[in-house]
Amino acid sequence: MQSMYQSLGVSPAVYQYGEEILAGLKDRFAAIDAVAEHNQLKVIAAMQKNRVNAGCFAATTGYGYDDAGRDTLEKVYADVFHTEAALVRPQITCGTHALAVALSANLLPGDELLSPVGRPYDTLEEVIGIRESKCSLREYGVSYRQADLTADGGFDWEGIRAAINEKTKLVTIQRSKGYATRPTFSVKQIGELIAFVKSVKPGLKVMVDNCYGEFVDTAEPSDAGADMTVGSLIKNPGGGLAPVGGYICGTEECVARCAYRLSAPGLGQEVGANLGLMPALYQGLFLAPTVVAGALKGAIFAANVYERLGFKVVPNGSEPRHDIIQAVELGSPEAMIAFCHGIQAAAPVDSYVLPEPWPMPGYDANVIMAAGAFVQGSSIELSADGPIREPYAVYFQGGLTWQHAKLGILLSLEKLVQAGLAKV
Ligand SMILES: *Cc1c(COP(=O)(O)O)cnc(C)c1O
Repeated sequence: MQSMYQSLGVSPAVYQYGEEILAGLKDRFAAIDAVAEHNQLKVIAAMQKNRVNAGCFAATTGYGYDDAGRDTLEKVYADVFHTEAALVRPQITCGTHALAVALSANLLPGDELLSPVGRPYDTLEEVIGIRESKCSLREYGVSYRQADLTADGGFDWEGIRAAINEKTKLVTIQRSKGYATRPTFSVKQIGELIAFVKSVKPGLKVMVDNCYGEFVDTAEPSDAGADMTVGSLIKNPGGGLAPVGGYICGTEECVARCAYRLSAPGLGQEVGANLGLMPALYQGLFLAPTVVAGALKGAIFAANVYERLGFKVVPNGSEPRHDIIQAVELGSPEAMIAFCHGIQAAAPVDSYVLPEPWPMPGYDANVIMAAGAFVQGSSIELSADGPIREPYAVYFQGGLTWQHAKLGILLSLEKLVQAGLAKV
């Protein structure tokens, strides 16, 4: 094995260091496998209940009326997430689009949106109008308020209570920390928050941005009272096979409104050809629980590899996980670049390119990104990125297989060692 790794660029010293770390992770890996087993059965049960069959994989074109593959897939998602309804299709272009549809379909002029978990993910700032943008919710007369988290990353219960007013209509909760330094919330914590806001104002609707959280736990936010649970198919639930798409699982009422907003009033879920993508969307969902397990193992391995070398890692090497993202604070631009070169060098695609920091739209610093993915931008595939600024943290996520994630992490460390930035 050591010589196989050596042929791919991992030195015996780095390989041995990795094996030492791994020896201490057996129990955690077993717990991840148990969650994956539960979720695998959940997905299979939903497919069986809805009588998935070869006819579901046929391509449709044009309007896509009576598209059995699409309609059945939506029922399968609704059953996996234990919701009344679901909207899952390639016409939802990405996670931001799914979230924008869910928000704009369920907020009307004069309504207010509340985030009780501080600032939302970067791309939502323009959707909401926190940063000015054409067609933002703000432009349509929807106001926004947020209650920041407490200094230790907890919910500010009194601040949240005070932020809820007669205009508050919808509450948005982001499960994953995304690229922020706050903690990711467990489904249990999200459930407590949902119960709280609904006790302050009955009838409030709650949307959870579930990006990067799917199948990390045996329960989803939809099991904890969310009216809409939303995410991207080129992250966890697409299992690496979905080439595009997003999902919204929720109540009949909320999802119907989303469908009218996505297509057109009166048309709703009745139109939307599947364009031949059904095999990938079904098979990707089928594989998603084990793919997520591999990504989680990679994240935990990375945390422990870098923590023992003295780097700050978020989450730390031993705490529970609620999403697949791992932040590693490397402390210098050189170390970030070396880390990303290692991830890139481990890729099955584009392994020969050297990623460089560049001024990406929407960021106030240069950003470096490493990814060699089969699906462009897919972050359930092994990838790492981060803005070149204090605290020089890279965000690492994905890996369609644990074995690939392991190679990526070992190569990232190898590049740091070669540059004299770490010592094993
Ligand atoms: C990725 C992500 C989004 C946006 O998804 P895209 O598919 O990149 O548009 C929104 N929220 C969170 C927390 C995310 O991680």
